[in-house]
This record gives sequence, C-alpha cells and structure tokens, in this order.
Amino acid sequence: MALGPELALSEIADGAIVAHRGKIVDLGPTAEVLERTTPGPDTRMIDAQGRAVLPGLVDPHTHMLYALDRMDEMELRHQGRGYLEILAAGGGILKSMRDFRATDDDTLAARLLERLKEAVASGTVALEVKSGYGLSLKEEMRALGVIEKVRKLTAFPIVPTLMAAHALLPDVEREAYLKECDQAATRAAKAGLAKAADVFVEEGVFTPEEGRRLLTHARQAGLRVRLHADELAPSGGAELAAELGAVSADHLTAATDEGLAEMARAGVTAVVLPGTSFFLHRAPLAAERVRQAGLIAALATDCNPGSSPFRSMAMMVALAFHQNRFTVAEALTMATINAAHVIGEALSLGSLTVGKRCSLFVLSGEDVRDLVYRPGAPLAWAVVESGRVLIGQGRPTEEVATWTIS
Ligand SMILES: [Zn+2]
Repeated sequence: MALGPELALSEIADGAIVAHRGKIVDLGPTAEVLERTTPGPDTRMIDAQGRAVLPGLVDPHTHMLYALDRMDEMELRHQGRGYLEILAAGGGILKSMRDFRATDDDTLAARLLERLKEAVASGTVALEVKSGYGLSLKEEMRALGVIEKVRKLTAFPIVPTLMAAHALLPDVEREAYLKECDQAATRAAKAGLAKAADVFVEEGVFTPEEGRRLLTHARQAGLRVRLHADELAPSGGAELAAELGAVSADHLTAATDEGLAEMARAGVTAVVLPGTSFFLHRAPLAAERVRQAGLIAALATDCNPGSSPFRSMAMMVALAFHQNRFTVAEALTMATINAAHVIGEALSLGSLTVGKRCSLFVLSGEDVRDLVYRPGAPLAWAVVESGRVLIGQGRPTEEVATWTIS
C-alpha cells in the first residue's frame, strides 16, 4: 500500500509542541523546543507526562445526521432476515427517511451534537457529515442547514457532503429525482453548504451511468466528488471513481481487483469502513488487496443508524488492524493524514507539522499500540482541536459543555 504523503510514522521520544493561535509553531525534542521558546504570561503549559501524543483522528465518512436508531432492525437481522426483506417492510433507509422528516431542526441538531461529542471523546478532531436521509430537494437542503448550524455553534471542523443520491424512494419517479439531486448540488454549492457530493452506486440503487451524470453535474457546480462503491456486489463503482478522478470511493468490499487497480492509477483514495463489516458480519476489505492494488487508503466510521452506529475513530483503528489486517502504522496513517486528504484538509490537519492546526489526540498511555490492544477502552487523556482543549484528563471541558441546542 502507498501510505500517501507521509511514508512512515516518525516518533519523537520526549517531544514538545508549541502552538500559537491554534496552529503548531514549533515541535521537536523537549529540551530543544524549550531553548527556542520564551513562554509569555498567558502561555498555557500542558504536561502530558510521557503519554503518546498523536495527530487528532479525522473521520472522513459519516452519516451522523440522523433522527433515530434502528436497533429493531439489528435484531431482525440477527434472526436471519435480509436487508431487502426489512426494506420491503418499510424498514432500513425508509425508516430513517420517515424519522428524519418527522423531526424538527433543533432536535436533529441536538442529536448530531451528542454524537459529535462522543466522537471527540475518542480522539476525533475533524469529521465529514453527509446529508442523505431527507431524500427530497427540500429535505436534503434542510439537512445541510442543520449540519451548518452545528458547525457554527461548535466551531468544530465539520465538512458537509450532499448525498441526496443515497436512495431512490419507491414512490418517486427516477428522472424527476435525478433532477432534484442536480438542483440540490447547484444550490448547496452556491450557498457553501456542501464541499462534496456523494452517490451510492450499487446494484439496485444508482447505476454507474446515473452516478456519472450526477457527479459530473456536481463537479461543474463546484463540489468535490465521492462515491459509495461496490459495497454489496461489483457494480462498476470503483471503475467509475477512477474514470471521474473522484476524491474517494468508499466501502469497496465487493470491488474487483481490476477496479481497485484502476482507482490506484487514477489516484482515488479508498476509504475503508471496518465498522460496517463488523456490524453486518460481512467479510472486510483485506489490507492485502489494498496493498496489492497500490492504493492510498483512509479509514472512517461510516457512522449511521443501520449498518455502523460507531462514532469512535479509535475503534476503527483497532478494527482495521484486527479485521482487515492493516498494520498499526498503516491504520494510523489512514485515520490521520490520508483521512484529512479525503475531506480536503491535508494541508491543515492529519500530521504534527509546523503550520498545521494544533489538533492532538493524547493517549492515556505511552504506547500507540494501546489503540489496537485495548479496543473500546476510553483512551483519550486529552483531545485538542486547533489549540482548544476539548477533552482534558479524560473528561469533556467546559467549552464542550456549552455546546447545547436550546
Ligand atoms: Zn456511507
């Protein structure tokens, strides 16, 4: 696998970081940094006491804006019912659409906020949030408005993606809905409410031809383009991502080797979603296939009510190691700099570099392998976002406590 811009993890034993106005201005061995630094009266010192300090984790693929859980569906699946059967009974994404439409903006924002806080508590310092449960022009624009509200309230780096093409409702005419998706892309780009557009290209959802049309329009409107590709069956999604030169193709558990190789040649990042494979008891995308194809890969939660309710990127690092068989260094690279690249923030996030945001994940222990050795443990001793301490001594700080929807 190509690890991307930073080819290997580098470690500073006994290091220090200096930040000013939210950005890293110096870092290196503590003794050297202290020699170069003159603390002012307002300088705040945090002694991590030998703990491991990592770049904060970046989650580049979430559907975190949803109204209600789908625990009943989880139990039905456990009893052996298939997704199509659940969908035919009005469950699945149809339930999420109904729940979304029946929930007011403030309630949706409050729920997004709670999930965001949970993500932060496990080391996330930036994330993507997709629309995609509104499934009409009006409701998709409402979704983007709620994401924007939470972004403004928290000043947290939330990167919004329009995913009107998440599903086609059974009572909606195909061509009419494709036109609504185009209109949503035009409006979202104009209003600055989305940075990217995403289309679910899969057998039974949107065809590669429809994906090409929607994403070509979205790109012309000024959005970056991404795809949900080949999750259930090889559906031409990886090949389309390569053809379009998309930023990423995500899922890929059923992609062909040729499709993956085409993505690698076109520089498309593969976003690996181990939470979904885990939660649906499906075979994960093997690290070896990603390496063989020479792909740049990133890691994400896919946080959504149906197939991956995870909010923790730390947990994804653990799953990527144990399930997909990525190395610790690969999984960390995928969850930091490569994930930052997918949301268009590689120049400001994803590594500890002078000039980038001071966004840090400080572990409770001194060894980064704790992330894969103790999956699910509360491992954040501190989380710093652009110089703001959001988690301190393992607990949310006062600033996070003020993030509430009245
Ligand atoms: Zn997804």
